[in-house]
Amino acid sequence: MKIFNTMTRSLEDLVPLDGTHVRMYTCGPTVYNAAHIGNFRTYVFEDLLRRQIQRSGYGVTQVMNLTDVDDKTIRGAEEAGISLDAYTKPFKEMFFADVDLLGIERAEHYPAATDHIAEVIALISRLFEKGYAYQSEDGSVYFSIAKFSGYGRLGKIDLAGMQAGARVAHDEYEKENVADFALWKAWDANDGAVKWDSPWGPGRPGWHIECSAMSMRYLGDSFDIHTGGVDNIFPHHDDEIAQSEAATGKPFVRYWMHSAHLIVDGKKMSKSAGNFYTLRDIIAKGYSGREIRYVLLSGHYRQQLNFTFDAADAAKVALGRIDDFMERLRLHGGTGDALPSWAVEAKDAFDAAMDHDLNVPEALAAVFALVHAGNKALDRGEKGFGAAVLDMIMDMDRVLGVLVKPEESIPAEVQSLLDERAVARASKDWAASDRLRDELAALGWAVRDTPDGQKVTQR
Ligand code: AMP
Ligand code: ZN
Repeated sequence: MKIFNTMTRSLEDLVPLDGTHVRMYTCGPTVYNAAHIGNFRTYVFEDLLRRQIQRSGYGVTQVMNLTDVDDKTIRGAEEAGISLDAYTKPFKEMFFADVDLLGIERAEHYPAATDHIAEVIALISRLFEKGYAYQSEDGSVYFSIAKFSGYGRLGKIDLAGMQAGARVAHDEYEKENVADFALWKAWDANDGAVKWDSPWGPGRPGWHIECSAMSMRYLGDSFDIHTGGVDNIFPHHDDEIAQSEAATGKPFVRYWMHSAHLIVDGKKMSKSAGNFYTLRDIIAKGYSGREIRYVLLSGHYRQQLNFTFDAADAAKVALGRIDDFMERLRLHGGTGDALPSWAVEAKDAFDAAMDHDLNVPEALAAVFALVHAGNKALDRGEKGFGAAVLDMIMDMDRVLGVLVKPEESIPAEVQSLLDERAVARASKDWAASDRLRDELAALGWAVRDTPDGQKVTQR
């Protein structure tokens, strides 16, 4: 499979370092509020990537950090007048609930920064030993970017006008003020009760060092893929490269991948513009996690995605077409296991698209070509391919995670009553059929009999 490497700005074949198993690190949420749908665009991209890697036959170990100590979480805890732990806990829980709603597969590890302070301190100590770190008058420890040759190469930063020794203490900064960045921030009154002891006095880690320490703790000094949104490229990921490679003397990451941002109605999301949405905001407007996942994955990950409610409505329609097609295949497609040529063509197009840097728009075009050709074949009364095509859709859905309705949409209990009723109707046992209809109604499900069989809706 080919992927686009931000470091080389080119497509490259994905070859895992150990030949069989891909180790990937995905920068995770800062748990100071509910993640917004832009964040989830990036997490859905990373989910597609892990699923496609697995479908290609490789194993995956994915690590996603939870940033639970930084400028923003500390400010939030201080304003709420509670401990950092108490402040971040509900946002961590909300994050996992949202991950499940969107059908995002769980990563293997979700390390929290506050559980890895010892690793951070050990890494900073190595940087001191090698001469890359220094302590300033204010007690904070900085990384000396002038000492690391190639600093800024991921973000293609021009260091010409750089002021030697200029320092920046806050976690996020712009390309315009390239400067030594904080590895360890000395405690000050703004930090309240948040502090850990270190050889350099009480304080807390900088944001960038958390990711270096936790990625190398779980994936080793060198690993395969590191991802994030484009805003992570500089300084965050360049700082990670500098810290990690300065400490180990080894190449840190082989492939860097970044997803473009999500915008809403053509504009950057912001609270003041009134277009800032969390997942819950959209679900409250009547859309399902599956529909929102569809919108988030429907654009190519390296192009900006414009979220609109029209797109969410279109997702409802598109998924309905797929559901109807699968239903027709089940009822009228027969059980043969040979794929007709139109299905083989769609499968080949789908695989080629996904192997080409996760080209989801082309992969979805192949899915709809399949639906179109399959519906025509069914219209002509052809059969003998239903089970085979259903299996093929299930297999394509191992990577998209959106084509097949989530199991819970029809609870097992309801499905078994429906199965019983289908048997009753086939044997013209109308009394049993009516009794089962009433039982379904008592559970809150309305059943309709259509030429394509029973359809249920929740009341
Ligand atoms: P943060 O919690 O701000 O550190 O962001 C978590 C992840 O979401 C990072 O990988 C960011 O690059 C990504 N991200 C932030 N805003 C957006 C956006 N509007 N669209 C896509 N990804 C985003
Ligand atoms: Zn990170």
